[in-house]
Amino acid sequence: MSRSIVIHGHYYQPPREDPWLEEIERQPTAAPFHDWNARIESECYRAVVAARVLGTGGKIARVINALAYTSFNVGPTLLAWLEREAPATYGAILEADRLSAARLKGHGNAIAQAFHHTILPLASRRDKTTEVRWGIADFRRRFGREPEGMWLPETAVDDETLDVLAAEGIRFTILAPNQVVTAPARGMPGLYQTTNGREIALFIYDGPMSHGIAFGGLLGDARVWIARLLAGIADGGSPELLSAASDGETYGHHHRFGEMALAAVIDAMERDPRVHLENFASFLAKHPAVTPVTLVSPSSWSCVHGVERWRANCGDGATSNNPSQAWRAPLRNGMEKLADGLHAIFTREGAAFFSDPWAARDAYGSADFTARTENLSVRARELLELERNALRLFSSCAWFFDDIDRLEPLQIMRYAARAIELAGPEGVSLEANLLDTLAGARGNDPRSGTARDIYLRKAKPKHPPFASVAAAHALARLNGVDAAGLHVRSADVDIDSDRVLVRERRTGREHVFEVRTVSTGADSDGALRRALHAAVEVRALDGGAGLATGEARSADEASDAAATKSLRLSVPDLPDTERDAIVGEVRRGIFDRGLTDADRARLASGVALADVVPEALVRAVDTLATDRGDAAVARVLDLADLAEEMEIAIPYDAQTTFARVRGELAGAPMLLASIAQRLGFAAPERPAPRALTPA
Ligand SMILES: [Zn+2]
Repeated sequence: MSRSIVIHGHYYQPPREDPWLEEIERQPTAAPFHDWNARIESECYRAVVAARVLGTGGKIARVINALAYTSFNVGPTLLAWLEREAPATYGAILEADRLSAARLKGHGNAIAQAFHHTILPLASRRDKTTEVRWGIADFRRRFGREPEGMWLPETAVDDETLDVLAAEGIRFTILAPNQVVTAPARGMPGLYQTTNGREIALFIYDGPMSHGIAFGGLLGDARVWIARLLAGIADGGSPELLSAASDGETYGHHHRFGEMALAAVIDAMERDPRVHLENFASFLAKHPAVTPVTLVSPSSWSCVHGVERWRANCGDGATSNNPSQAWRAPLRNGMEKLADGLHAIFTREGAAFFSDPWAARDAYGSADFTARTENLSVRARELLELERNALRLFSSCAWFFDDIDRLEPLQIMRYAARAIELAGPEGVSLEANLLDTLAGARGNDPRSGTARDIYLRKAKPKHPPFASVAAAHALARLNGVDAAGLHVRSADVDIDSDRVLVRERRTGREHVFEVRTVSTGADSDGALRRALHAAVEVRALDGGAGLATGEARSADEASDAAATKSLRLSVPDLPDTERDAIVGEVRRGIFDRGLTDADRARLASGVALADVVPEALVRAVDTLATDRGDAAVARVLDLADLAEEMEIAIPYDAQTTFARVRGELAGAPMLLASIAQRLGFAAPERPAPRALTPA
């Protein structure tokens, strides 16, 4: 055996969670999925861990977990999402590492990643260290072993970054060919010695093959890729390594069915005795790095100018629609100044709680954030959260794309707003300074304004963020919905008559709200409409936490701030997870009243709701001929509302039946009017169209 093959996938998504609620709001561009994580999980991650190898006649010959055969890293923030939202896929990722370790003498396929996808050469040594320590701790907790290698976000590297990796016990990382002056021959690992005298191995991936994967040229036909992997192979030659690296989302998301090409390659390589499909750690164990390499520093795999893409208008990432990235520099300057201010608060206030605040910050990432901090005071926990948000300000995705008015820059501005809130009274001046700098970050579309406008318009909460949580619980109670379905991950809620207590889980901070019912929705008929029309007024009793500052606001926003002293909210105003939970529960109530056991049995057997509802509606209308009780009427109204909401046309037969039975309802004109209107009949003041009236 002379040729080893390592195919590495870097799996990562920009973080998307609301910084207060820790939930991802619905992202309409990801439809029919709830959000982009869900969509990419379905297209890529789920496909990669169960990739189809096709046999004769295009039928499935094998289903393989491709991660058990390929080197991989999954960003810690994405792993956290997968763990709670896609547990089967998450389990398969962990299993892939166990299977590969068993196959490759204890060297698993997974490697760690610096925690927040920060461009490490642009970070201070202290931040580099924290990102690397958090990445290692997260890896250890999930995979149950020490990581041997670490993926650098955007493969961005400089001497200090490698020194930190080596100091933390990382043995290798992976770089692009342009990041070293001369790559060692035959794909062998290079030996890098840092200025401080530490050593780390560098694997330089094959540029053309990686490019062919990333841009799809090799994914369209696995035979081309296989031929490329076997090209020039010689029996008995010197050991050599052919390695490739790309974004993991290449498989299935960027290139539909790309995971099938990967599976076909894995299948072929496994059968070919001339090659050994393994990972970097297992190769390094047999072939230690000896050839010295010189770094091109700083450098990365996605900016030919070094790391300018994340701080300057270097031209990378420009598109014809959005040619200028002059916004990058002020966005970074603003975030750096803000982080300096946050660190100063952390150092000063943290001294009262921690013997070494920075060691406390490093340790904070070693668990699930809340577990190890429950014994600390609220302020100490807030300070750790302040630092977590300070680190998150530098998620590289914010600078990567072509314009400022996108979700990724907005996301770090939301972290900024959260950090400013946690800063306390000094948040006012921190925010004012940030806004001064962001005012210089102008997007390509004049309608977007500057980053300052975007921050004030979209990033900064318009009302105390937990007010909606309080309102959701009050509205759930109003609609008879079990509050257990309203799972806000970030807070615990106690509701007691007109008071709602919301306790943040990470910090223990409590927010008390007074809630008053403004409308029960009882004036609208149909359970769904009642639920949507019910409204409560919420008033923060703890001084409006979440509205730290005032000076930088425009007159409009100042009046918004005044309005938040008492906020009117109904179900459609809620964050979508809570809105969906309440609407879902109300719907379930409709099913319970509107659908018979036979209907439910049909649903359970796979008949679509869109088929069951119209039939149930026809029967419900028919029942009115003999039963005009409240329950029978409510059933018709609920089912009609449900049909409307599901965009199901009112069944022709339901209208015909109604035309037949409406005479029976003449004694109850209001009832008649509501039902007639729902089923598509004209207002009853006018005579019904003759054609629809039975003879
Ligand atoms: Zn560049």
